[in-house]
Amino acid sequence: MATLPNSGSGEIVREIAAQIVANRGYLSEIDGKIGDGDHGVNMAKGFGRASERLQGQDATLAAGMATLSDVLLSEIGGSMGPLYGMLFSEMSEAIADADPIDAAAFAAMLRAGAAGVASVGAAAPGDKTMIDALMPAVEAAEAGAAAGDPFRDMLDATARAAATGRDATVDMVAKVGRASRLGDRSRGVPDAGATSCALILRALCDGAAARLQD
Ligand code: ADP
Ligand code: MG
Repeated sequence: MATLPNSGSGEIVREIAAQIVANRGYLSEIDGKIGDGDHGVNMAKGFGRASERLQGQDATLAAGMATLSDVLLSEIGGSMGPLYGMLFSEMSEAIADADPIDAAAFAAMLRAGAAGVASVGAAAPGDKTMIDALMPAVEAAEAGAAAGDPFRDMLDATARAAATGRDATVDMVAKVGRASRLGDRSRGVPDAGATSCALILRALCDGAAARLQD
């Protein structure tokens, strides 16, 4: 069974950050359609700062996620600081003692992160938030791990489930957050948080897949 080394994989956090920074304009653009247009700016600021802090650190994945969480929780405003801060702190704690990380531990990490987000934000699936990208990804990861699928396949299925979940937010009406004030007019646009979440999960899963060891 392939596993992911925790040691040295903190660089994955920098790869996630690079994706967020590269999509800064797009994330703010879609937030601007049904929110206040700051999502890409908030996200790029937090993830970019964390990436700078991790440069040359050779951190574990758990430590990289802890650094990212610290920056998001203490330095980033909007909904995103607490929500993504919680996601990464819970994921970091879940894998703190796992090295290497196997497919089941990876799925458990995602589940812990999602539970953390739900505990802070109280959004349910279908409310048109990041949860709508995150929960399908968690479920795909758990299903893949339970079925004994190859870790690599499970990682790709996880990232694809997040993208499908993001796409499903287009037809949803926002029930929580700023966009909920628009009611029915929030339909027709992907949710900004679901979009950033799908990007994060794709970069996380690709980064993990690139480091798998037999
Ligand atoms: P703000 O809404 O403060 O401007 P951002 O623009 O950075 O913050 O983030 C907006 C995103 O936050 C939304 O697209 C949605 O995905 C997410 N979001 C908002 N409220 C919640 C919540 N209660 N639970 C989960 N996600 C939420
Ligand atoms: Mg916003």
